Amino acid sequence: MRKVDAAVIGFGKGGKALAGALAAAGKMVALVEKSPKRYGGTCINVACIPTKSLVHSAALSAAQGGTFDERAARYAAAIDEKDRVTGLLRGKNYHKLADLPNVEVVDGTASFVNSFPPCTGAASRTAAPVFAAPGELALDTPREENYCYHHKL
Ligand SMILES: Cc1cc2nc3c(=O)[nH]c(=O)nc-3n(C[C@H](O)[C@H](O)[C@H](O)COP(=O)(O)OP(=O)(O)OC[C@H]3O[C@@H](n4cnc5c(N)ncnc54)[C@H](O)[C@@H]3O)c2cc1C
Repeated sequence: MRKVDAAVIGFGKGGKALAGALAAAGKMVALVEKSPKRYGGTCINVACIPTKSLVHSAALSAAQGGTFDERAARYAAAIDEKDRVTGLLRGKNYHKLADLPNVEVVDGTASFVNSFPPCTGAASRTAAPVFAAPGELALDTPREENYCYHHKL
């Protein structure tokens, strides 16, 4: 069983800031994120950044005018630009934490199980404490096949 000093659930604004702070304090941290497409969280991948990119591209396109086909081509280019920007930020966010020697980014959906049950997932870790920063999404519980963390009291 691999041991860490703390587990942080969610690689969003909250989770990455906390994981970085814990790592800077010398703690061994597991940062659990359920989707590689969400490294860095909601903001950079599907919310703040992509909306600004698309709104900016839409304003430029509206000012240019043109035929339907010309606008359609600019729409496709806007999607590409949005994907480029979010991909760049996702990679930077990932490496900023994953490249630290005392942070392990764990791909998986974390869930809490009741009290001190046996962990039956592909991997089991003991972590104290566990910090949950899953954004607007409620943590599923219980779910045996996923990572399970025991909160030592
Ligand atoms: C359209 C839109 C535009 C926005 N624009 C702005 C803006 O301009 N400026 C601004 O400051 N804010 C903006 N926000 C708000 C911003 O996106 C949120 O405040 C921010 O993402 C919250 O960060 P968080 O860390 O709490 O959650 P999130 O960023 O949502 O991160 C939570 C992470 O936890 C992961 N997760 C969830 N459950 C589990 C689990 N069980 N196991 C493992 N991982 C899990 C998720 O995949 C996710 O990556 C916008 C939001 C929206 C919807």
